[in-house]
Amino acid sequence: MTPKTEGPVVPRSGEPYDFDFIVIGSGFGGSVTALRLTEKGYKVAVMEMGRRWTPENLPRTSWSLHRWFWRPGLALRGFFNMRFFRHVTILHGCAVGGGSITYACTLLRPPEKVWDNGFWAGLADWKAEMPQHYDTASRMLGVTENKILGPGDLLLKRAAEAIGVGDTFYRTHVGIFQAPQGEPAGQTYPDPYFGGEGPERTTCNGCGGCMMGCRNGAKNTLDKNYLYLAEKRGATVYPETKVVDVRPRDGKSDGSAGYEVATVKSTAFLFRHPRRFTCRAVVFSASSLGTTELLFRLKSRGSLPRISDRLGKHIRTNSESLIGVRVPGSNDDLSKGVAIGSGIYIDEHTHIEAVRYPAGSDAMSAWTTILTGGRPGPARIALWLKNLWYQSLRHPIRTFRIFQPFGWARECLILLCMQAIDAHIDMCWERPWFWPFRKFLVSRGDKVPTYIPQANEFAEKLASMAGGTAMSMLPEVLFNVPGTAHCLGGCVIADSPKNGVVDSRHRVFGYRNMYICDGSVVAANLGVNPSLTITALAERAMSFIPPASENSWDDSVGAAHAAVRTCQ
Ligand SMILES: Cc1cc2nc3c(=O)[nH]c(=O)nc-3n(C[C@H](O)[C@H](O)[C@H](O)COP(=O)(O)OP(=O)(O)OC[C@H]3O[C@@H](n4cnc5c(N)ncnc54)[C@H](O)[C@@H]3O)c2cc1C
Ligand code: SF4
Repeated sequence: MTPKTEGPVVPRSGEPYDFDFIVIGSGFGGSVTALRLTEKGYKVAVMEMGRRWTPENLPRTSWSLHRWFWRPGLALRGFFNMRFFRHVTILHGCAVGGGSITYACTLLRPPEKVWDNGFWAGLADWKAEMPQHYDTASRMLGVTENKILGPGDLLLKRAAEAIGVGDTFYRTHVGIFQAPQGEPAGQTYPDPYFGGEGPERTTCNGCGGCMMGCRNGAKNTLDKNYLYLAEKRGATVYPETKVVDVRPRDGKSDGSAGYEVATVKSTAFLFRHPRRFTCRAVVFSASSLGTTELLFRLKSRGSLPRISDRLGKHIRTNSESLIGVRVPGSNDDLSKGVAIGSGIYIDEHTHIEAVRYPAGSDAMSAWTTILTGGRPGPARIALWLKNLWYQSLRHPIRTFRIFQPFGWARECLILLCMQAIDAHIDMCWERPWFWPFRKFLVSRGDKVPTYIPQANEFAEKLASMAGGTAMSMLPEVLFNVPGTAHCLGGCVIADSPKNGVVDSRHRVFGYRNMYICDGSVVAANLGVNPSLTITALAERAMSFIPPASENSWDDSVGAAHAAVRTCQ
């Protein structure tokens, strides 16, 4: 739903800058930034590579690949993307509203200990400062305890009780408009969140479709809260607009004279409609992967050479592993509920959530196979083939039913396992040996563990209780590559450019009036889904920006720009 703007902002002619701030990306960091800056009186533009989505154009199921998957070069113009690296497969969103269109709307606060780890430790009194920003973020995103437990959640609860951790079972906190007690689902109400300023909303019917985009108007996506209000207050959102360059203006290499931002149409094949905009300040909010990649490109081509050489360091996967259980012919429809309805802790470090896709969204079945443990590498592949062979001979019909795609979402419960244990990789900007003509983002470092043995054991227990079969993700078995939807870091908060890319107020070392507000600044593994933390951090960062009438446009960090060369 596009809000009616009060006095639309257009690039100014005759004025020195088109906008005060240009925000790159409209996800959690970008939407908070856009709203708070417009409230402070700034003229703001948001450049977003993805499309704008409405209940009418969202896909019904994942078979509608062209509306689900983002790969514009192949005419796939959806909102969900997967990027494949040697160490990790990264799942992320790409839309007006960023990852909120495809995310499972679980909004959790991490344990306090995350502020004691990583380069951000000690740079602010995080434990005292953050609660107020979490409160604001929770209010804006409409966080509530999930009221709808589906059959998959109840199965998770029974399995937790069976292994003696039933007391850790909890209903997730979600950003979903759920029906008031005693009221039926699917009812439409005038804006329940912002005193009538927001759009009308419909209550959740527990269809499990959150990750395919909510077609019922129940999910609190950013285009219904932060971004909606930002547009209403005058921010201009440019959809399908990819930022390809950011350069300081007028020969002031530190950006003190503002920036020129170049864009192209992201969904065009031939006529890419190049445009240039000027602004006094720029905020990178293109996500951990998006901002890291864009900054590497700009540093390498000489547009922003002062960016710290710590760029790309400390990319975290939230130590995540996806496993699942398929129950062929299940009487219960495991796709019912909200996308992530509940969770448990099987030990101090290991957190498991019950995840689902909506009925009919069976395309992800291509990624699942029978659970395979063992050490990574050829031995694990051999074990997988052996198990497969043994299963096919012993239970041919059952094996066929596990692998055939139809009914996968109805019969499958995915278990998202996360650990708050520190592990990270680095991203570098290099020419790969197989294509030396240009540089790409490549991953480096120690392999991130692809499976969590205690989580595998739990999946087997759950499968035996449900009469199903435990599943691994195929890339984890074949290539020893874990998948994550929670990529964090790459431009982490630190005390100096020797350790990170931004300071504790998200100011980019080496530049004036340049900020990063997205998952790339997160400097520790959170062990829980990160969007609430990204939102709260952006709220905090924006609290330091003065109102437009008081801004002297000198936010110099005062830090040395001694970059450490590490990865070029
Ligand atoms: C399937 C799935 C389920 C998830 N479920 C949850 C969940 O339940 N809870 C949770 O907390 N997290 C969840 N996540 C993770 C969550 O979506 C991300 O952590 C979050 O969106 C990151 O926020 P961000 O502000 O860093 O960037 P994003 O929200 O990713 O937004 C960045 C935006 O920048 C745009 N962009 C990138 N490059 C450019 C460019 N050059 N020019 C213009 N625009 C650009 C992108 O298109 C994107 O829209 C899920 C992710 C996926 C993929
Ligand atoms: S469960 Fe269905 S109705 Fe509820 S938020 Fe998710 S997609 Fe929307």
